[in-house]
Parts: sequence; structure tokens; C-alpha cells
Amino acid sequence: MGGPLTLLAADDEPGILSIVEEVAESMGFSVRTGGNGAEFWEHFTVAAPDVIMLDLVMPDCDGVEVLRRLASLGARSKIILMSGMDDRTLRSAERIAANLELEIAGYLRKPFSVASLRDLLGKGAGSPATIIDAQRLAEGIKRGELVNYYQPKIVLPNRQQTATVMGVEVLSRWNHPHIGLVGPARYISIAEESGSILALTLEMIQRLIGDLKTWHEAGHLISAAVNLSPELLTDITLPDTINAILTEGGIPPSYLTLELTETGAMQDVPMSMDILTRFRLKGIQLSIDDFGTGYSSLIQLYRMPFSELKIDRSFVHSLPEDDEAAHIVRSIVDLAHNLGLSVCAEGVETQAAYDYLTRIGCDCAQGYFISPPVPPGELSRILGRSLDLNRFAAS
Ligand code: C2E
Ligand code: CA
Ligand code: CA
Repeated sequence: MGGPLTLLAADDEPGILSIVEEVAESMGFSVRTGGNGAEFWEHFTVAAPDVIMLDLVMPDCDGVEVLRRLASLGARSKIILMSGMDDRTLRSAERIAANLELEIAGYLRKPFSVASLRDLLGKGAGSPATIIDAQRLAEGIKRGELVNYYQPKIVLPNRQQTATVMGVEVLSRWNHPHIGLVGPARYISIAEESGSILALTLEMIQRLIGDLKTWHEAGHLISAAVNLSPELLTDITLPDTINAILTEGGIPPSYLTLELTETGAMQDVPMSMDILTRFRLKGIQLSIDDFGTGYSSLIQLYRMPFSELKIDRSFVHSLPEDDEAAHIVRSIVDLAHNLGLSVCAEGVETQAAYDYLTRIGCDCAQGYFISPPVPPGELSRILGRSLDLNRFAAS
């Protein structure tokens, strides 16, 4: 940790490589260069580069293939794409990389200026202080840099006259000393792979208990949902651990919901079933997250002790114009109700989506239309002024 950052540049134009080398070295990078795909992979295996600059078109290899292989190897390098192609081609390569969950720091269209290269290396690739890895994350957790954001969930007004905040989903944020607020997409998978997800989740529940107490004492008896990583479903003692934290904090277990993705719950069915059943026996609620994106068997899902199903936001965001999405959402709402589950739509961004969900009898909703995730103080204000509920009245 702490040594110079390694940059690996691959391009079949020697002129470009020498400019990159000069600029990057002047910025303190240790630089390796490759003039073709074979040399690139040779360097990649020995150097584990922090930053990769990749020419998308080289004689012996295709840039998209390289991206796929980097993704399959779980590469964590920041990637800068280079090409003489037009911006649209570069942007679509950037999207492919993002879908592969590679970290793209930006792209350079050739010919590029030294200034734009310098700028991208400085900003996008960053200094060692801005690198996110397992060790820095564990230290951040220890230093108390992880905080809770809360996104309100409201009961849709088909059951009651007005929409009310009935709960929150707790979402993790890292208040990073050098980067600022970092979203979970950048560190949850690192926490899962490195094992710090347990500490992260338990501390999140501790902070949640403090906040819930404040809200309950002010008369807002809301519940809260915490995302549970599939990695934690191998820990047989987890139901007791979480229950003990709740008991000690004086919060009845029925105020806590754990959200699990369907694929997460199906990884090891007998083990999941054992742990999930024990959560339910302790009075903790369980919710199926991102429903519709996995391929789980409905029968197995039906046998699991869930009480709520959350419709994935990819179906919700195009409501109601997209007929296919509208059909899917309506079927999921019916399915959930037939299985005795309550159903919540996430990613509600528009009045039209909100009205559609109300009309088809969806029980509850969450999304930017209602409120983005907010820090605890802001949630207190939302609860205090009991939202502008008329805005949500179905027309
Ligand atoms: P998720 O569980 O599906 O959480 C909902 C995500 O959707 C949140 O992203 C939220 O900010 C975002 N969102 C809310 N309303 C809208 C909307 O109207 N439109 C759109 N497009 N998005 C909306 P966030 O906070 O970035 O979290 C991303 C994911 O990270 C979460 O997805 C969850 O899977 C994971 N995550 C967050 N916190 C934790 C945690 O403490 N533990 C674990 N294991 N995973 C977490
Ligand atoms: Ca969730
Ligand atoms: Ca979700």
C-alpha cells in the first residue's frame, strides 16, 4: 500500500505510448506500456495496474473482448478508453464496460491534448488517497466513516385516504475523507468479498436503532428495512446476533425488515431456509428485493418465509407508458397478493407511475418522486411535516 500507482497503457501507435509514458511518469505513476494485446496481458498479469489506458482498436485484439476478459478476471483497475472512433462509439464501449461493472475513469478521443490526458489522469485516476480497496474500507468502517441514509416508503392511498410514511429503507453511504460521499455501488461488493460486510451491516443496524428511537419517541412509529448480503446467509448465528442488538437497543423486532434478493436467498436453499425461518420466529420481517430480475423458482420462493415483495425499479421506471412493464407489474402485484405477501414498488419517479401503482392496488411505494435517500436529520424533518401528502393523492 502507498507506493506509486501503476499505469498500464496499450496502444499500437508508439507516438501515443511515449506521450502517455512521459505525462504519467511526470505525475508519479510507474508506467508500463504494450504495443499489442499479447504485451498488454503479459504486463497485466505481473503488474496488477491501478490504471489502464486501453486503445480500443489494436491489430491483434478487439477492445470489447479485452474489457470482457478484464471483467471476468474481476479487474479493479480504473480504465481510460482511447480511440480514434467517434464519441458515440467510445460512449457505447464505456456503457459496455459499465455493464460489466468495470470502473471507467473516462475516455480520450484521438488525437488528444496533453492537457486532457493530464486532467483525466489527475481527476479520474486520482491519487492513492482516493483508492477504494478492502483495507481502506475496513479502516473507514472502524473510523466510523460509514453513515446511514434513509429513503421513505409510503403506504399508497388505496388503503387509507392519504399516503403515509410507514417506513424507511436504510442505504449505506461512505463519508470518505478525500472523496466525499461515496455510494454503495463502489464498496459493497468489496465488503462482501473481504468479509467486512458483517461489521458494516451490524454497525448500520446500531445507528438505525439510535435513529428509530428518536423517531419513535417523537411519535412516528415507522419501521426500517436493511439490505442483507447473501454472503451473510451462511452465518447461522446471525438471527441471534441481530435480535440481541435490537433487544439491547429496546426496539421490538417487528420494526425491522431484512431485504434479500431472490438470487441471494436461493444460493443455498436449505441454509437460507434455516436462517430466514429463525429471523421470522424472532419477529423480524423479510422482504424479497429486486423481484423480477432473478430466475428463482416460484415454488421455492413461496416456501420461504417472506412477508413482502419489492418490484425491481427496472419495471417501475417506465410505467405506465411501457405496456410490457405495466403488464409485468400488474401480474407481480396479483401474484404477491395471491401468495399473501404485501408488495412494494421501488424506483417510483413520476406522478404517472405513482397513480398507476395506486390504481392497480400496489401496497406501498418508494422512489425519487416521493423522496431520495436522505440523512437522518432530513428524515426527521420529513416525518415532522408529514410530507406534502396531497401531492400524492391519486387523481
Ligand atoms: P437497492 O436495495 O435496490 O436500493 C435501492 C436503490 O435505488 C438505492 O441506490 C436508491 O438510492 C435507488 N433509488 C431510490 N429511488 C430511486 C428512483 O426513484 N429511481 C432510481 N433510478 N433509483 C432509485 P443506492 O443507495 O445507490 O444503493 C444501491 C444498492 O446498494 C442497493 O440497491 C443495495 O443493493 C446496495 N446497498 C445499499 N446499502 C447496502 C447495505 O447496507 N448492505 C448491503 N448488503 N447492500 C446495500
Ligand atoms: Ca433494497
Ligand atoms: Ca431493490
